[in-house]
Amino acid sequence: IVMLKDVKKSFDKLQVLKGVSFSVEPGEVMALIGASGSGKSTALRCIDRLELIDSGEIVVCGHRVNDPKLDLRKLRLDVGIVFQSYNLFPHLTIEENITLAPRSVKKISRDRAREIALESLAKVGLSEKAQNYPEQLSGGQQQRAAIARSLAMEPKVMLFDEVTSALDPKLTGEVLKVIEALAASGITMIMVTHEMNFARRIADQVIFMHQGYVHESGSTDILTSPRTPELREFIGDEL
Ligand code: ATP
Ligand code: MG
Repeated sequence: IVMLKDVKKSFDKLQVLKGVSFSVEPGEVMALIGASGSGKSTALRCIDRLELIDSGEIVVCGHRVNDPKLDLRKLRLDVGIVFQSYNLFPHLTIEENITLAPRSVKKISRDRAREIALESLAKVGLSEKAQNYPEQLSGGQQQRAAIARSLAMEPKVMLFDEVTSALDPKLTGEVLKVIEALAASGITMIMVTHEMNFARRIADQVIFMHQGYVHESGSTDILTSPRTPELREFIGDEL
């Protein structure tokens, strides 16, 4: 459902992705790990075409992402992305934040959009906050609202970029629980995370990036028995 083949990407003289290949099957949960600056966020952003690649190939839900004839709107309908910062609109209620894109992009009726919003909020355990404004929610609740907003678009693939790294441990736990439930529901996801125990629990596949390459990949076994010294050192630092 997601395939990267020999993807290269530079910012000016800095080559950030030096030939990255991996693929994710439908329903699979992939954990993307690696040190700061190894290119994880850049790889995610290339998948949603927030960045253009220099060479290689990316196919997502049948869309050839680097094809000049790509229908960007269709790609974005199939891919949901959630970042560390929640980017909720402060002047809109949680429900309004969630119904905005389904109504404007998918042209869904107000009533149906509201139903979908309430379903999405239920999935993240925030049904009672629909009429509140973002500032009235805790950080963890805001992040869950951001996840609900993404879910309301019914994407085929969800991308999570360190969605818990701005949260304290208790709030992190709430958000991870939501992601774990989504994983169990069968949605395909790629998550960049520093939560190694979490990755070990829910990932089907682990990709370790190091200096712009996929340095090691496999099942969660590689987190307990890394083959390369680089991954061993990385995990040592994370624990
Ligand atoms: P972290 O764990 O800190 O989030 P990361 O693995 O997500 O790191 P990236 O954000 O992909 O790393 O960045 C990889 C490299 O690319 C870094 O050296 C970063 O400074 C550089 N970089 C990322 N985005 C840009 C940009 N828009 N312009 C220039 N350089 C960039
Ligand atoms: Mg990053």
